[in-house]
Parts: sequence; C-alpha cells; structure tokens
Amino acid sequence: MAPKKLYIKTYGCQMNVYDSERMAEAMGGEGYETTERPEDADMILLNTCHIREKAAEKVYSELGRYKGLKAARPDLKIGVAGCVAQAEGEEIMRRQPMVDLVVGPQSYHRLPEMEAKVRSGGKALDTDFPEEDKFDHLKGRPKAKRGPTAFLTVQEGCDKFCAFCVVPYTRGAEVSRPAERVLTEARDLVERGVREITLLGQNVNAYHGHDGGLAGLIHALAEVDGLERIRFTTSHPNDMDEALIEAHGTCDKLMPYLHLPVQAGSDKILKRMNRQHTAEQYLRLIERLRAARPDLHLSGDFIVGFPEETEADFQATLDLIEAVEYGSAFSFKYSERPGTPAAERPQVPEDEKDDRLQRLQALLTKQQRSLQDAMVGRDVHVLFEKPGRLPGQMVGKSEYLHAVHVETSGIVPGDLARIRIESSGPNSLKGVMNPL
Ligand code: SF4
Repeated sequence: MAPKKLYIKTYGCQMNVYDSERMAEAMGGEGYETTERPEDADMILLNTCHIREKAAEKVYSELGRYKGLKAARPDLKIGVAGCVAQAEGEEIMRRQPMVDLVVGPQSYHRLPEMEAKVRSGGKALDTDFPEEDKFDHLKGRPKAKRGPTAFLTVQEGCDKFCAFCVVPYTRGAEVSRPAERVLTEARDLVERGVREITLLGQNVNAYHGHDGGLAGLIHALAEVDGLERIRFTTSHPNDMDEALIEAHGTCDKLMPYLHLPVQAGSDKILKRMNRQHTAEQYLRLIERLRAARPDLHLSGDFIVGFPEETEADFQATLDLIEAVEYGSAFSFKYSERPGTPAAERPQVPEDEKDDRLQRLQALLTKQQRSLQDAMVGRDVHVLFEKPGRLPGQMVGKSEYLHAVHVETSGIVPGDLARIRIESSGPNSLKGVMNPL
C-alpha cells in the first residue's frame, strides 16, 4: 500500500521544530511519510505557536486556506497542534468545523490513536497535561542518517510566570526528562551522524532530570564519543547556577554562546514583568559567566513598549545593552496576550513602541556587526552543515554560531575544520581553511 502523506506546517521556536520532527516520526509508524505540499497530503497538521500577536487569528486564517482542499477531498484530515491548540481547545473545532483533530503539546504521543479515531469518521481532542512523558511514548527515532546538528528537548513548561508570557499556561509546569533517556537519544543521534546537539527547554536551565542539574547533564553528554558540540536554549537568569556557570569554563564541548534573555533594563519594568531579578543582578551574572569563559558571546530577547514603560525605562534598556554587548538578539514590540497580567495594564502608544523598537534594533545591529567584524583575522572552528549557494562552497557554524562560508573542496557536511576568517558580510563570515 502506498504510504499516506503528512504535511506539517511548523510555527514558532525550535521546540516546535523538534516536536514536529517527533510527530512525523510517530506518524511514520502509522504508515505516513512527510510531504512539502499540502495538496498531496492525507493529513495536514499545523504545529502552532502562541507567542506572536493575534496568533490564534492567524491559525484560523491559515485553516481557511485549506477549505478548498478539504471540500475537494473530504477524506483529507486536518489537525491543529501546539500552543494555540492548547489555548483554544474545542473552540477551534467550533469555529472551523473542518478541523478533525486538536492536540496540545503534551499529548503528541497520543497522535496515532487520535489519527485512527478521525480516520473512522470521528473528531479527536486532547489538551491534557498527562503524567506520562510524551517522548517515552513516541516511537524511537528511525535509524536513518541525518544532518550534523539536531535539537533535543530535555525540559518543557515553565514555573516563572513572566507577566507577558503564555508558556506557563499553554505548556504547563516545568517537567524534565530523565538524564538516562536524554543520553540514549543523544547516542542514537550521534550514531546517525549528528555532531552537535542543542538541548531545548522553555526554561532549560531549570532542568532537574540529572543530580547535577543541567550542568550535570552537559558533563554526561560530553562523555558521548562522537558528540563534538553542545548548546542549550532558552535560559532564565535566575536558574543560572554556579555549576552551569563553571561548565562554560570547564566543558570544552559546551560552545561559547549563550542565549540569556533579560527583556528590559529598567528595574521597574523587570518587576512589572515579574522577572524576579534586577538589571544589576543580570549584569553581575554576565560578569561571572565571562570570568568563566572570556570569549562567551551573548544573545538576548528584548520587549519594548511594555505597559507603563517610560522613555527613562527604555533608556535603561539601551544602557544595559551597551554594557553587555550582544552578539545577537531578538527584539519585539510588546503586544497584549489575553489572559496574561500585563494585558490589564496601561499600554504604551503604538507609535512610541515603533520608535523605541527601531532605536533598540539599530543599537543591537551595530553591536552584532561589530562583534562579527572583530572575527576577521581570527581562527574559528566550523562545523560544516551544507553546500553553499556558490559552486564549491560549504556553509557551517562557528562555535559562536556565526554562519561561515568557505570555498573549498574535500569538505562534507559533518566535518569540523579550523577556518581563518577573511571577511565579514551583513549576516555571515567568509573564511579559508587553516590547518595549522
Ligand atoms: S521564563 Fe520564559 S517561558 Fe517562563 S514565563 Fe518567563 S518568558 Fe515565559
């Protein structure tokens, strides 16, 4: 029998990318293979994200695009997964009756039985927070060869309740996967060609599936032969414990790049955001991290125009950015998330948010560019991932996560090489092999 086709559209963060991979694998066991074309699909699954403004509305309008397909082929099954599925639940089927299946992020292991139910003409809804670990119940990853980098989710959920964030509501309380299971999955990935693993979690440094916390897990992973690089994201400053700071200095496989969001530089706004730390505490933490690993590149997230943010508060954010010098950053205008505490506070006018975002991004871009330009003349280690756009070119990532282009022969994806950086472009570096 010809395999059935599954089209998954993934929105949002790397955790959703990982979840989509695992859902595809779970459905592989039910005779599905993935397709890039919704027109060919027997099942369409939207793996949604609730972080952006009007996320649910965007999902409804995306669903509207499949109406014609569903009308032409009534046996096509349509599902919604991810954080919008969790937040909206049954409402999705009420507003879009053509949706057959709604599955929250903690219930993906139940997808095969849900699929069977919708195939027999029913509807399936599961937005529970079950006790069991969904990853244990998902089928093992197939043994096929894969690229040199992979994500591996080790933690989900968050107990921090930042005033702007829906994660604690859509993903639930913090849960960590036991270290032994993470190690088994990591070894399996390495056998299949992976050389760099990024450990994922909504609040990954709160990981407690190993006696030594995330640092303990990283040291254990560093023992896995063939695994050359370890990264982790995303972290909360308050969970950056001493052992994890130290690991940046002592674990060679832990890459010198850390995404450590602060969101704002004004203590008043940090308090309103319920971040539970001050700007000064964040800056002292960065000092300790840089003492452990002097070449550490920092990345951050910033929200501008949070309710009640004044120009002076915004200036404090710019001052903090000046003090840290970020290698990269993500920045957004605050937008209300219904149901979160910040949505109830007096809002900053939209034009002021626009103006502040532009000024903040100009500073971040300047810093990013100057740190990137400073790599020229230096040697970096590049893990090559794929051919570049030009013939004979390969592209990979440095330890600092810069994209590096090299024109060379004899290099294949998965190779690690020392590269002398010769020039810096808007978003990437160019270099040559430097075997010495
Ligand atoms: S720590 Fe991150 S995931 Fe948790 S509530 Fe705050 S922003 Fe959301």
